[in-house]
Amino acid sequence: MSTTQTLNNLIENGNRYANSLTEYSRRKTITVNVGDVPMGSHYPIRVQSMTTIDTLDTIGSVEQTIRMVESGCEYVRITAPSVKEAQNLDNIRKELRVRGYSVPLVADIHFTPNAAELAARLVEKVRINPGNYADKKRFETIDYTEIGYQVELDRIRDKFLPLVNICKEYGTAMRIGTNHGSLSDRILSRYGDTPLGMVESALEFLRICEDENYFNIVLSMKASNTQVMVEAYRLLCKKLNEEGLKAYPLHLGVTEAGEGEDGRIKSAVGIGTLLEDGLGDTVRVSLTEDPEFEAPVAKALIDRYSNRKEKSTIIPNFIQHSQLITHNSFDSPINPFQYFRRSTHEVANFGGHNVPRVIADYSQIEVSEHEDLKTIGHFYLPLPDKWTMNDLGADYIYTAKNPAKYMLPMGLKEILDASVWAEQSDKVNKFPLFNIEAYQANTEKHETLNFLSISLTDLTEELIQTIKTDKRLVLVVETSNEHAMPALRRLFFELINQEITTPAVILRKYENLPESDFQLFSATDCGGLLIDGFGDGILLKLPDLSEKAELIAKSKSYNSTAFGILQAARTRMSKTEYISCPSCGRTLFDLQETTALIRKRTEHLKGVKIGIMGCIVNGPGEMADADYGYVGVGKDKIALYRGQNVVKKSVHADNAVNELIEIIKEDGVWFEPANI
Ligand code: SF4
Repeated sequence: MSTTQTLNNLIENGNRYANSLTEYSRRKTITVNVGDVPMGSHYPIRVQSMTTIDTLDTIGSVEQTIRMVESGCEYVRITAPSVKEAQNLDNIRKELRVRGYSVPLVADIHFTPNAAELAARLVEKVRINPGNYADKKRFETIDYTEIGYQVELDRIRDKFLPLVNICKEYGTAMRIGTNHGSLSDRILSRYGDTPLGMVESALEFLRICEDENYFNIVLSMKASNTQVMVEAYRLLCKKLNEEGLKAYPLHLGVTEAGEGEDGRIKSAVGIGTLLEDGLGDTVRVSLTEDPEFEAPVAKALIDRYSNRKEKSTIIPNFIQHSQLITHNSFDSPINPFQYFRRSTHEVANFGGHNVPRVIADYSQIEVSEHEDLKTIGHFYLPLPDKWTMNDLGADYIYTAKNPAKYMLPMGLKEILDASVWAEQSDKVNKFPLFNIEAYQANTEKHETLNFLSISLTDLTEELIQTIKTDKRLVLVVETSNEHAMPALRRLFFELINQEITTPAVILRKYENLPESDFQLFSATDCGGLLIDGFGDGILLKLPDLSEKAELIAKSKSYNSTAFGILQAARTRMSKTEYISCPSCGRTLFDLQETTALIRKRTEHLKGVKIGIMGCIVNGPGEMADADYGYVGVGKDKIALYRGQNVVKKSVHADNAVNELIEIIKEDGVWFEPANI
């Protein structure tokens, strides 16, 4: 084999999951026909969501569907837990047509092949969950022989074939939608609770479809854990390539993302990271809110790429494969299918094993009153005359040319532009930020911590050598490239290639963006890097504004967004995590009201994960990651979980939150909220 062939093989069989890591290039897929709204190939990335009304409530479902369509949904999914609901999809569809709405409907199926087979004759698409289509959960670990495993696959084929044949006959599309939380015992026994298990779960069903020449299929790999979710989608693309299966369109989603700011940030971290690499043909954002609030979020995420230039100015990757050196747009020095944090040495409290730090931008704000720091989590208490901070207390403020007018609290440190820092009387408790020129000049440096602002093109041989030898340095990495996440990722690749272990803070600045887009875009850009293990801190710069009051107000949301991104990427837990389902026709209690109540009582329990699930059918599986669970088991009846174990089987809803808190107290995890 020639050198070129070997090299091509390394690239082809390596970690390829997208067309390019340095140019925006949407993954080419086959077209899937869903009613008269096709998906994939050259069609726009579609928006979809799911109703929350009881499917047997025809008019309620129709009216909610219409509200969803008006808010931007191009497909609407409706749960069909049994044949009764599947049958009623026909009435819903007919009433929608009477009212002039031709939106394709998708039947959501769990456990009930007979409901799927009926729905496939009535609506444009069915979604099946490969974890429970042919399997009931028994939480057993089974040691399969090859023959035993094949017998299982044959059993699945027998159960699944009728649906495939109906879909073929009626031109119905299908989503094979894996959920991390509901993998079958068979998959868990063989592959564990892993992205590979998620991918195999779908492929077992997909191979049957291909054998039958049925290709009208969309795939999804949803999880509440954004790292797992991103890894599973990437691995799916790689496996489809490797096995010579067709390039099926991808439905992107983060399950149980939650509500409000947290839900939006978490969705953007998971979905946005994949969209950046050109993956994804339809998006569903799952929020614990009315479904008409989901489509605008999905649309904002998608629209960011409608004018993204295919060609970019990012330098192709430089990789050395033993004797071979290649410059190409795909290869990377990291494993994109498994989370590893980039290895860095510790500088002050950056890098090493430290959590990523939050730096608040006060470059336009004069820090003259104690109140000025309240919005970034630092509170001055006049009576005891001391400072305190909450869980979202920023670690540093960047004051640029405006040194703070008073001594900052212990937990907050100040970064100044190097020229201003040099003039300070107290140079020990403040830290300088250098540009390259000042850094390379023989100027005074701090004894323990200095910051250097760089972008990819700054990395000359001379600078690389200086950075490598300076153990008091933290980099602040930035880019002006519109394709910002890949541009910064490329910089991190270069740091790895050059064996630079200096910690690096991600800096992003957005001008003229509505607050909602700022949240989504910063979560995509920073979250995508954090998911790949890059970033030892975040600095979100405020837009240029003239009024101090406006800037202070913004600093609150920017600080909260920065902490939210770190939490959503699972790199720093600073809040209670709520894994709450978006609700659907199966929901047994008012999810929004209950989530708000649980949040109010428990939001001071930093790092504790609480699952709030509307039904017992999917709930326990979907909240597999949670420390405690609140799950609907009947009308106003709640089961309470500690991890995966039921602690109370049926508590009346009126008292269930109190009982949940009692369980948390029994574990010694509870403490009373601070009064600040
Ligand atoms: S967990 Fe929530 S969204 Fe999932 S099926 Fe149950 S009620 Fe519906």
